[in-house]
Amino acid sequence: MMKIIRDIPSLRDQVRRWRHDGETVGLIPTMGSLHEGHLALVRQAKQDCDHAIATIFVNPTQFAPSEDFDTYPRDETRDIDMLNGLETDLLFSPNVDEMYAKGFSTSVAVSNITQCLCGAARPHFFGGVVTVVSKLLLQALPDRAYFGEKDFQQLQVIKRMARDLDIPVDIQGVPTIREADGMAMSSRNKYLSANQRKIGATLYQVLQDIATRLTAGEHADAVLLDGAATLKAAGFDPIDYLEIRDSETFEPLETNNGTARIFAAAFLGETRLIDNIAVRAV
Ligand code: AMP
Repeated sequence: MMKIIRDIPSLRDQVRRWRHDGETVGLIPTMGSLHEGHLALVRQAKQDCDHAIATIFVNPTQFAPSEDFDTYPRDETRDIDMLNGLETDLLFSPNVDEMYAKGFSTSVAVSNITQCLCGAARPHFFGGVVTVVSKLLLQALPDRAYFGEKDFQQLQVIKRMARDLDIPVDIQGVPTIREADGMAMSSRNKYLSANQRKIGATLYQVLQDIATRLTAGEHADAVLLDGAATLKAAGFDPIDYLEIRDSETFEPLETNNGTARIFAAAFLGETRLIDNIAVRAV
């Protein structure tokens, strides 16, 4: 049975014992409402490490007041069943007071690569993510930590933070897990009506179409205009961004340079969906 821990000292204690025995630890931070995308991270951690620790914490500091912190889907009982099914060793599920003690006054900020895409659309977002992930890494001190490419900018920002702060952890990216129609799995897909869910797959189709045309040598401008028009026609409104950028520097690109990635975020009704794919090197 998976151990469930809600306080930081008990987490540290358990990890210290494992490490004392020479065993490796993989950490999988999540906000719960788990799906196959999260489980892929747990599977990878189980494969690479002696012990896998999943965390569930819906982090208030990465939501703006107008966003969905209160309504974010939460179902810990179901999450625990899913994690037990994979023989996860430990769940760390602290409450807000455990993570942000009274008087909490510190934040971690990554510059440059947080200015564009989700950072531009949600200015509060990366500060909240990077602060809570730094805390989780320092609380658990794992050998490796696992993050999904579904949130590709987030993955790169977290790699930058761990490198810059000399946190001794190997940050691992895991490819995006998709539904049968290609839509990226996300806890927020639960918000969609049946009709919106069908339309949702268009986001991935548009990304694939852009990738194909860039690989064929077309210029970004025309391809992106067509992509945005397809999204609008399908019912996405507004489009936060649809852009081609370098996957390391996040510089905008006009053509396929071999490390290009296409990034999109758009609303279907109230629900903001994001996705990204690599453009095949030519
Ligand atoms: P979240 O609970 O949405 O904060 O996500 C927790 C972790 O799971 C993050 O590292 C996400 O990038 C990752 N993740 C979410 N959805 C997927 C997916 N469809 N495929 C792979 N990883 C995912």
